[in-house]
Amino acid sequence: MAQKRKPSKKKPAAKRPQRKKPAKQKIQPVEEILFRVEGKMSVFGGPTDTGMSAAEGLALFTPADLQDPKYSYLFLPTPPPGTTGLGRRLDPEKYYFACRWNYNDTPREFLKRALARVENPANGRAADARPVDWGPNISTGRVADLSPGLAKALGLQTDDFVRITISALRAIPVKPAKPVKPAKRAAPAIQPAAPTKPVIKQFIRSPNCSPRKVGTKIDKIVLHCTEGSLAGALAEFQKTDSRKVSAHYVIDRNGDIYQMVNDTDCANHCMGANTVSIGIEHVGSENDSLAPPQAAASAALIRWLLQEHQIPRTNIFGHDFTPGYCRPGGTSCPDKLFGPVHSQATIVAWVAANV
Ligand SMILES: [Zn+2]
Repeated sequence: MAQKRKPSKKKPAAKRPQRKKPAKQKIQPVEEILFRVEGKMSVFGGPTDTGMSAAEGLALFTPADLQDPKYSYLFLPTPPPGTTGLGRRLDPEKYYFACRWNYNDTPREFLKRALARVENPANGRAADARPVDWGPNISTGRVADLSPGLAKALGLQTDDFVRITISALRAIPVKPAKPVKPAKRAAPAIQPAAPTKPVIKQFIRSPNCSPRKVGTKIDKIVLHCTEGSLAGALAEFQKTDSRKVSAHYVIDRNGDIYQMVNDTDCANHCMGANTVSIGIEHVGSENDSLAPPQAAASAALIRWLLQEHQIPRTNIFGHDFTPGYCRPGGTSCPDKLFGPVHSQATIVAWVAANV
């Protein structure tokens, strides 16, 4: 939602409280910490990191991973001149990091899918980032190396303290199952080969839609935050006398999915990009994260939409970052729902870890 500009957009990243808010759902999985480290940090990776050799690779990735859109966004499109290794090819603006992993506790394949919370305890800023390498050497006295972009976003400089956490809840890309031992849970979850459409709790038709032109290919999914209640969003999308807005789907905090517009029709959710996109609203306020059942429902719906409409995984966008979106002044949507920083990188990382 949020078609109007919010001053909060320009604020520096994340004043997020370090403790989670009290659970709103009756049943909420306990956050199981699989990895946590706190100590000094430095930065690494990218074309200007002469601390890495031109041929130096990464512990968690091989050149074949450049073909996988889940990972390719972490890297520059072409190798920097004179380099052959993946280390120097990292995009320094993306959020990645290295720690000294014990692969018995956190296997490589698990780490490749994991999304970590990286915090600056001194100022409370936090961001989600992807593990990419093993390091730094223990002789440095540091516990982690961060991408330059991540360090900058968190206001960290070399030898500042950082805290890094990987929890099962955030790392496992399906609705958490019954509790299992951490060692077993660390294995990557197996996703179903052919997703089916998640159950729609209710179809409440919105009048604010129009048929797509014949032959139009749906090629984007746009993620939104309602910045208000479920009832408010459902009511707004049924009104014909105000902004005439709508979305295809609205996902409540408890994971209930409401549909309001058929996929074959345009909804009015993302000015400039409505004709080729599906809009998904997530109930939440401006500082909320997705609730776990809501995240699971959203991931399931997205998985199905990707297959049903043959949408590339790389075409899932936060409202404000959607190509073609042209509302003057932009929007603060989807706020902090997918991670503490309002950025497309946050969306990409969430998709990579959950969808
Ligand atoms: Zn929106």
